[in-house]
Amino acid sequence: MIKKRVNINEAKKLFNLPLFELAKLADQTRAEFGLKKVTYIIDRNINYSNVCTSNCKFCYFSVPVESKNPIRLSKEEIFKRVDEAVALKATQIMLQGGLDPEFRLKDIEEIFKHIKERYPKIVLHSLSAAEIDHFSKVERISYKEVIERLKEAGLQGLPGAGAEILVDKIRESISPKKISSATWIHIHRIAHYSGLMSTATMVIGFGETIDDRLEHFKKVRDLQDETGGFIAFIPWIFKSKSNKMWENKIDYLKTVALSRIFFDNITNIGASWLTVGKDVAPIALLCGANDMGSVMLEENVVASAIEKIHRPQSTEELESLIRSAGFESSERDAFYNFISDKDL
Ligand code: SF4
Repeated sequence: MIKKRVNINEAKKLFNLPLFELAKLADQTRAEFGLKKVTYIIDRNINYSNVCTSNCKFCYFSVPVESKNPIRLSKEEIFKRVDEAVALKATQIMLQGGLDPEFRLKDIEEIFKHIKERYPKIVLHSLSAAEIDHFSKVERISYKEVIERLKEAGLQGLPGAGAEILVDKIRESISPKKISSATWIHIHRIAHYSGLMSTATMVIGFGETIDDRLEHFKKVRDLQDETGGFIAFIPWIFKSKSNKMWENKIDYLKTVALSRIFFDNITNIGASWLTVGKDVAPIALLCGANDMGSVMLEENVVASAIEKIHRPQSTEELESLIRSAGFESSERDAFYNFISDKDL
């Protein structure tokens, strides 16, 4: 039984346990958090632009600024997609894009304001630390000012996108133009102090070591000790059409289990059905995860990168996956509150 906070050395030893033993410890930790139900959310990820100046080596979604066929959604198209999402009972919109010089901060503010005026209950858990950095540079204003203007326009949460691995030697090899690990942490810190919640993600499979993953864990846990602003930790895997460097599902499951044990200060741990699929995601629930992510009505970034996207077609299918692991399911909102039929 894990009763005290684990340090890096202890975490490393835990990672070397057989999966079954590590999963048992993680499952006990989940129970100690009082997490009995497994949640999911209905949301839509709308990508306002696929133009990006960052040119990350693993990204199949973006196109460079000089591209002749960029996808830039008009405001009308974005609003139409939000209308469709709301009609399908979405409770959260993730509006995200590349780092596109043609989209200005005022455009995003206008979009957020319009959505919130039309649908005050929909939660805008949108953008990313890299976009906050981008708008700060383009507008020549501080991160705090960008975040406060967006919050004023309706932003309620900052997704953990762009964290990949928060170790700069890995970031330099895969996304040299992207924000550093310190900047990612700094922007989330400002978001938390500005009253936004955020999520922390980690993408494994870039050739990082367990020490690198634990460095990432530690940076997130330290910030959470300071601010308490992370609402969930979600480990993902990197798979691409051209590079099958990540094939080890045991490695993913052990990382989920270790994250459940390591993050004694973050309540929710997410399973990534989108990339690991319907066979493995329920097993992640037995390794301490208590959230299955979303019934995504639209997702383009991961879908651009992998050969086969795993997408449950309905809430019923996601609920059945959760039941297959022996858990009761519940729809949740962006803040991880259970939603019952009477709330809708
Ligand atoms: S991963 Fe994000 S920041 Fe990197 S190139 Fe793709 S869209 Fe741009």
